[in-house]
Amino acid sequence: MSIDKGPSGLETQSKKWSAAQKDNQDDDLRFETKLLHFGGEIDRATGASSVPIYQASTFHHDDIYNPPLHDYSRSGNPTRQALEDYIALLEGGVRGFAYASGMAAISSSFMLLSAGDHMIVTEDVYGGTYRLLTSILSRMGIESTFVDMTDLNQVKSALKPNTKAVYMETPSNPTLKITDIGAVTAWAQEQGLLTLLDNTFMTPFYQRPIEFGVDIVIHSATKFLGGHSDVLAGLAVARTEELGERLKQLQNGLGTVLGAQDSWLLMRGMKTLSTRMAHSEQSAAKLAAWLQGRSDIEHVYYPGLLNHPGREVHEKQSSGYGAVVSFDVGSGERAKQVLNQVKLPLVAVSLGAVESILSYPAMMSHAAMGAQVRHERGITDGLLRFSVGLEDIDDLIADLDRAFAASY
Ligand SMILES: *Cc1c(COP(=O)(O)O)cnc(C)c1O
Repeated sequence: MSIDKGPSGLETQSKKWSAAQKDNQDDDLRFETKLLHFGGEIDRATGASSVPIYQASTFHHDDIYNPPLHDYSRSGNPTRQALEDYIALLEGGVRGFAYASGMAAISSSFMLLSAGDHMIVTEDVYGGTYRLLTSILSRMGIESTFVDMTDLNQVKSALKPNTKAVYMETPSNPTLKITDIGAVTAWAQEQGLLTLLDNTFMTPFYQRPIEFGVDIVIHSATKFLGGHSDVLAGLAVARTEELGERLKQLQNGLGTVLGAQDSWLLMRGMKTLSTRMAHSEQSAAKLAAWLQGRSDIEHVYYPGLLNHPGREVHEKQSSGYGAVVSFDVGSGERAKQVLNQVKLPLVAVSLGAVESILSYPAMMSHAAMGAQVRHERGITDGLLRFSVGLEDIDDLIADLDRAFAASY
């Protein structure tokens, strides 16, 4: 078997992959085609139709003067490398990284900051990110201010002499508020701040923040990218080589890597991303319209609805509205009744899967938040979040209709 070994091992491998990526980009392939032809779809050694799972922790030095491409799987594994190059290509960045979970991707990226630094963060950031910032990073001297990022003035007025980064998430969870990525990023660049964005809800199929200048794009790949509720993973993509180098050092130093099996499983799921997203979005739009037409539903949150306050901004930066619809059934008591009555969706934490998932933010994802803060952010006791899967939407609507009728 001939692998092209170079003195700098890893670098040679990533150059090889990026050469393959470059070919794809030069061909100007559209997103859907890139999902299938990303450079790692064929095993170069055997012609096999998928990336092999290199279930190995270490790599033999056949010739000590000429080290192997990879030397230890924390520092580099060919299966994980294929996934990392895949997400970098999809997001349009220079380098990708795969982690054990979305939180591992987020916490590793936050390690770019140091004690004494300050960060501006969207107020309805993912609950786990909020906990990380307020109970762990705060102990290490990394400060954060939470602001309503739909208002650029609030972002600007949170600036302090030690501010180093801005962290966005759009649409936000669970009330789907929209941040103007271009406006926040342009301002942050003027101030010399690092910009990070959690792109979990949109995926690169609908939204590619690097095109707006965002420095680091982060995913909980557990959701839409994996898509099957069977793998926990996180991804990050760097816009520049310099940031890529720093993230590489952190990933290797912290050891927050994704294993080879899960890397393979994630790539398997990602190949169908566009088809899953497009189908679920169509259904989500139908569900949102149906919910909005009901007199017993107090509020429907979906960026595709005409009355969504962030719709125009969202349309500037995204090519779709996604598959998550949140709605308020009126009271906590009724929400619980609906959850116990539905037959089709999984009643669970998480989203972005082939099966629909109905979750109850007040008792699940946002339970740790005090009731008052929760209510201020629109996460009322009657709020449910529906992640629309691939079932026939008419069956999902009929199921909800039955559950609503049985819960008053
Ligand atoms: C789930 C989620 C995370 C955390 O990802 P894990 O894979 O659960 O660690 C981060 N951000 C968003 C928006 C999420 O939905």
